[in-house]
Amino acid sequence: MFRTHTCGELRISDVNKTVTLAGWIQKIRKMGGMTFIDLRDRYGVTQLVFNEEVNSELCEAANKLGREYVIQITGEVNERSSKNLHIPTGEVEIIVSVLEVLNTSDIPPFTIEDNTDGGDDIRMKYRYLDLRRHAVRSNLELRHKMTIEVCSYLDKLNFLEVETPVLIGSTPEGARDFVVPSRMNPNQFYALPQSPQLFKQLLMVSGFDRYFQIAKCFRDEDLRADRQPEFTQIDCEMSFVEQEDILTIFEGMTKHLFRSLLDLDITEPFQRITWHEAMQLYGSDKPDLRFDMKFVELMDIMKGHGFGVFDSAGYIGGICAKGAASYTRKQLDQLTDYVKRPQIGAKGLVYARVEEDENVKSSVDKFYTQEVLQQLKEAFGAEAGDLILILSGDDPMKTRKQLCELRLEVARQLGLCNKNQFVCAWVVDFPLFEWDEEAQRYAAVHHPFTSPKPEDIPLLDSDPGAVRANAYDMVINGVEVGGGSIRIHNSELQNKMFSLLGFTPERAREQFGFLLNAFKYGAPPHGGIAYGLDRMVSLFAGLDTIRDCIAFPKNNSGRDVMIDAPSFIEQSQLDELGIALVEKA
Ligand code: ASP
Repeated sequence: MFRTHTCGELRISDVNKTVTLAGWIQKIRKMGGMTFIDLRDRYGVTQLVFNEEVNSELCEAANKLGREYVIQITGEVNERSSKNLHIPTGEVEIIVSVLEVLNTSDIPPFTIEDNTDGGDDIRMKYRYLDLRRHAVRSNLELRHKMTIEVCSYLDKLNFLEVETPVLIGSTPEGARDFVVPSRMNPNQFYALPQSPQLFKQLLMVSGFDRYFQIAKCFRDEDLRADRQPEFTQIDCEMSFVEQEDILTIFEGMTKHLFRSLLDLDITEPFQRITWHEAMQLYGSDKPDLRFDMKFVELMDIMKGHGFGVFDSAGYIGGICAKGAASYTRKQLDQLTDYVKRPQIGAKGLVYARVEEDENVKSSVDKFYTQEVLQQLKEAFGAEAGDLILILSGDDPMKTRKQLCELRLEVARQLGLCNKNQFVCAWVVDFPLFEWDEEAQRYAAVHHPFTSPKPEDIPLLDSDPGAVRANAYDMVINGVEVGGGSIRIHNSELQNKMFSLLGFTPERAREQFGFLLNAFKYGAPPHGGIAYGLDRMVSLFAGLDTIRDCIAFPKNNSGRDVMIDAPSFIEQSQLDELGIALVEKA
């Protein structure tokens, strides 16, 4: 037998057993005549002991080993005199009697421990070594458990996993496609799926009624901490359902995941908030509801007192930071600089402190009487010790988004973003369309297959911007973890939708003819949702970036630095595909 136990398995109850372990050397310590080795595998670390007095030859061999050598040992389990109660195996050690070197190792480019000395770049280049670290591996273990729990939850509810193709045509989900040239069809390209959207809808027409898939999706977008060019969705679709059915099943799935993975019982129903409320109160369609700090609109109170910036504003709004009146001048200046950064773009920040005597002192005192400032205080229900922060601007939506950034930054500073607290909500009633300034036409907020609310259908012609969609997002701690909609299942309405989105009938037929055709053969009412698996895992694991829960992620330029992709291809491959490269400036 190669090994009798793993390196994470032995306990005090195993003392006196003769065991064989195999693994990697994490650390070697020489203390007097004793040599200690921490032997690591996927399951943990076990201490090995070599005693010069008992077996000098073996001890000498042990002293020649290096970090990350792969060894196999046999020895007797012994109770440790100095126990390490931080690790499960910390009460025992192995007195080694047989040592076999299975492989040597170069000195690794960084220490393979929880607190590594390796920076991001080097760890990505040697990702296979990085993955030996417990911290990284445990994220992948959580990911594995999450997919297992998802599959078992959905399986119990009759969902069927069906694979859909990866080489397809374009699916309009709003991002750029990755394309793949077809050798057999010269000058033609496949697109990689941005999601299995159309296939899952076709499966509903086929009568599959409850579908899911752990699906790889591809979107050629600029990358951020929560985006990768390829990512994984828990993709689901159901027939004969209304929005409420979907919300119930997937709220249930989310609660099941919290219970089974984090031992967290969420008994309350998830909050529901309309998109409109979310924008009014938090300036975001994915509000972080772990803390309150709702926006208060201040046009009535603050306008018309001679303060030019406010008097000419199209929106004035603020938040109240509880207990933050102690912010120093310097902190307030930093906060002002924060909102003035080009990425946020506010012009300035007005603040008002509620002092111990309940008087309000503001940065614009010369324009406002204490009476007006007291109204301001009341508008927030502010108390002594609170700090009111106000932004204004011409465009209400833009200003609210700036205020949203301010709200999040203040929450971070005040320590309100607890990673172990989870507040889940559904954002519902998204608008169906948004106006695209550049293209001078409407674009779908979700995607072109999302159905309008039946009561809003008459507005499709008169006021498309006011039409609400049967669309919903699940938001946890300010992260959009999933989203979906009830779909259009009627070819007439689908055609109308395409035309409102600026498709000519020819182009719609060209691109989506198969869907429109399918809808002629008895498409059932249907709807679905897709979760971002990577986002969900990183949220559960408390990670700052989804990269840490992906085994082999790409960097911010979309590169895999380990395998060095993307890369140039051979001229012969280009010739075969009939592709000529053009020098890009
Ligand atoms: N395909 C959609 C998305 O990727 C999800 C859905 O509507 O089910 O966002």
